[in-house]
Amino acid sequence: MKRMSLKWKVTLWYACMLLLMIFLLFGFLISTSDQLLRSESAEALEEAVWDFVDEVKVNRKEETWSLDDDIRFYEKGVVFSLYDGQGRLIAGSVPTGFPEDTTLKAYALQKISDSSEKWTVYDAAIPYGDGKILWARGAYGEDALTTVEGVMLHLLLVACPLLMVFALLVGYSITRRALLPIEEIRETAEKIGESGDLSRRIQVEHAQGEVRQMADTFNHMFSRLENSFEKERQFTSDASHELRTPAAVILAEAEYALLPDTEPEEQKEGLQVIHQQAQRMSELLSQLLLLARADHGKETLIKEPVAISDLAFEALKEQKKHAEDHQITLEHDIQPGLFVEGDRNSLMRIFRNLLENAIQYGRENGWVRLSVCKKDGEIFCKVQDNGIGIEAEHLEKIWNRFYRVDTVRNSGSGNSGLGLSIVKWIVEEHGGTIYVESRPKEGSCFVIRFPQGII
Ligand code: ADP
Repeated sequence: MKRMSLKWKVTLWYACMLLLMIFLLFGFLISTSDQLLRSESAEALEEAVWDFVDEVKVNRKEETWSLDDDIRFYEKGVVFSLYDGQGRLIAGSVPTGFPEDTTLKAYALQKISDSSEKWTVYDAAIPYGDGKILWARGAYGEDALTTVEGVMLHLLLVACPLLMVFALLVGYSITRRALLPIEEIRETAEKIGESGDLSRRIQVEHAQGEVRQMADTFNHMFSRLENSFEKERQFTSDASHELRTPAAVILAEAEYALLPDTEPEEQKEGLQVIHQQAQRMSELLSQLLLLARADHGKETLIKEPVAISDLAFEALKEQKKHAEDHQITLEHDIQPGLFVEGDRNSLMRIFRNLLENAIQYGRENGWVRLSVCKKDGEIFCKVQDNGIGIEAEHLEKIWNRFYRVDTVRNSGSGNSGLGLSIVKWIVEEHGGTIYVESRPKEGSCFVIRFPQGII
């Protein structure tokens, strides 16, 4: 069975609630008006009877009585009658159908009924001599009251269907308008799903309140999705671009080496190039793998207390040959005996990347200095050089994947532009921060801060 749409559900709820409220309101009105009418009618009856009594003139001395000329036995729905001391009707009349044998009760309201009708009566005694008494009685039928209730009930019966139709129409149009932005959200999401075009956005101009917030949230989500898809696309394209060069070199060298005329010496040289390029590819692939695993939260670091001072000395030793090749002096200012809680291999990777960069972008006969110290319980590691430095406009971007300041100079150098993004990721995984200060032609200084809590 097809499920009812939200629009209709809300409309029906709205209409039913409206109807319920009308019923309750009418119920309340009928019951209170009934009580009010009854109490007001009773009071009016008493008053009318006393007015009637005023029309009966008694002479106590002579023990006689007479009626005013303008006396009326019926007024405003009340029927008046006069009885003698024995309860015999001597003037006026009783309403049709009124039981004749009703007792006279002084100054009390009585409800009298026969099988079909109901009356309210009020009796007043009029003494006019020694033990002589007249009775004045006023009575009204309760039809008047039931008529008011009846009118209200009829009104309710006629008004209800009309109100229901009105409530449905108005409710539907209000709900439809209110849910229009949601419909738009659904449509946009559907179109994005079909076309894969993440640049589409939900039109939020007409939306207000919570729906506007929801539309904004969706648009924000689309932007983030678009962004991350774009990054992913860029990453894949950069990665394949980086891998294409060594692959092409390997292919060309192999083809040349396999030519029948190629000398064994040339073949050996070709193999060396192939080896070098294969190494470059392997390094690149392991970097890409690391970043991909990091992105998916799969790269886990095994943390343990690491003697960071010793690690720094080890890293310097490792770079000794590289530095000599570039005629660069390695300097250090390492506070001994410092520890951090971290992953040894990853921490080594930080030093290696930063030192390699400092040497590579250093000045001939220049220096590279590695410092490690503890300050206010935090560990600071600095890699400083007096090399080419970085222009201010590139400082923010060097942390981006595949970003290289001098693409031309660096192409074919084996540098992929992934080093610093990996360093940043490792530092942040250790709860630390990294920043760089640099001036073109003066040198750069990379500063890492590992937070407190580390031994
Ligand atoms: P790469 O593999 O190209 O070295 P990195 O991510 O390590 O990639 O560095 C990104 C870019 O930042 C480098 O291409 C270089 O232009 C610049 N860079 C990094 N370290 C230094 C430095 N010590 N001195 C000058 N430039 C640097």
